[in-house]
Amino acid sequence: MFPFFSYYQFLLFFFFLFLSRPCFPAITIPESVTVLTADNHSVTWHGLDRFLDAAKGSNVNGMSELKRYFHRFGYLPISNTTTNFTDIFDTQFESAVNLYQTKLGLPVTGKLDSDTITTIMSPRCGVKESKSHSLHSVGHFAYFSGEPRWVRGSSMTLKYAFSPSNMIDYLSLSDIRMVFKRAFSRWSSVIPVNFTETGNYELADIRIGFFRGDHGDGEPFDGVLGVLAHAFSPENGRFHLDAAETWTVDFDREKSKVAIDLESVATHEIGHILGLAHTSVKEAVMYPNLSPRTKKVDLKIDDVEGVQALYGSNPNFKFSSLLESENSSNLAIGLESRLSKWTFSFSLLLILYLLHMNSFFL
Ligand SMILES: [Zn+2]
Ligand SMILES: [Zn+2]
Repeated sequence: MFPFFSYYQFLLFFFFLFLSRPCFPAITIPESVTVLTADNHSVTWHGLDRFLDAAKGSNVNGMSELKRYFHRFGYLPISNTTTNFTDIFDTQFESAVNLYQTKLGLPVTGKLDSDTITTIMSPRCGVKESKSHSLHSVGHFAYFSGEPRWVRGSSMTLKYAFSPSNMIDYLSLSDIRMVFKRAFSRWSSVIPVNFTETGNYELADIRIGFFRGDHGDGEPFDGVLGVLAHAFSPENGRFHLDAAETWTVDFDREKSKVAIDLESVATHEIGHILGLAHTSVKEAVMYPNLSPRTKKVDLKIDDVEGVQALYGSNPNFKFSSLLESENSSNLAIGLESRLSKWTFSFSLLLILYLLHMNSFFL
């Protein structure tokens, strides 16, 4: 009987090995950690994993750089008495981490856990998260302070133009125009606002251009990845993209690992132009982060509710169709998780059966 017993023990070992993988995924730091060092101008986030699980009281070399990042996006104020950050994880930094985790829809642990480190490493929009602590700032969409919006007549048309001198040469103007036309139409399909292109850059409501490094508005770009773009709240209309990024309109044509989808960023920045700040809903277009080689162009319920509260609804827009499309994608996710639960249950039953057989033969 002994050899038989060994055979099932061996089988069981493999079942547990198999089961342990999907149920307890290892903490991994994404590849982008090396990608982010691709340019001298960008913040060098290599070795960010050394901050993993740092918490109040920790003293890690280079923590001051991380504090500068939190300061850059409005999470950590500089007091009048101190201009330099220390490497110590103090109470003030703990509050900043808590706030960052809340605003980015992460579990609020107050520690630099793997979710938080991964989010810090991923490229993002340069617009600071909203300071507002109103109902609208936590859990979903948010507005800029004072909730500014464009005010025109009853039928609002905003004109946009591309900079005559600050564009990129590796994408054709017709491709860029097409992408922006689609991005604007996504927003105009849900609110009673039209967008038309004009050749008059100076007089346009929305002025779009690609800029490098310090470009005179106090919000310098940082080279490859890091900050991708920024746009100003109503009725400013400035819409700036970091010229150092590898912008693409087609991932089949552009194979770069750091390629950024122009249409996704355009759709996001138009949200700012209209008056939306960042949301904490990860699936929404107005979430601040976007990974390279990722397309995220469809407005979600959170985006639509946010912008319609400012401008009202387009009479042709039907919420039911949006609900339907979101429900079907949620259904797919639900089905996937149910399938994995089912696989788990089936494996468990099989193990119990084998154990039963084992005791029977013993
Ligand atoms: Zn943004
Ligand atoms: Zn700018």
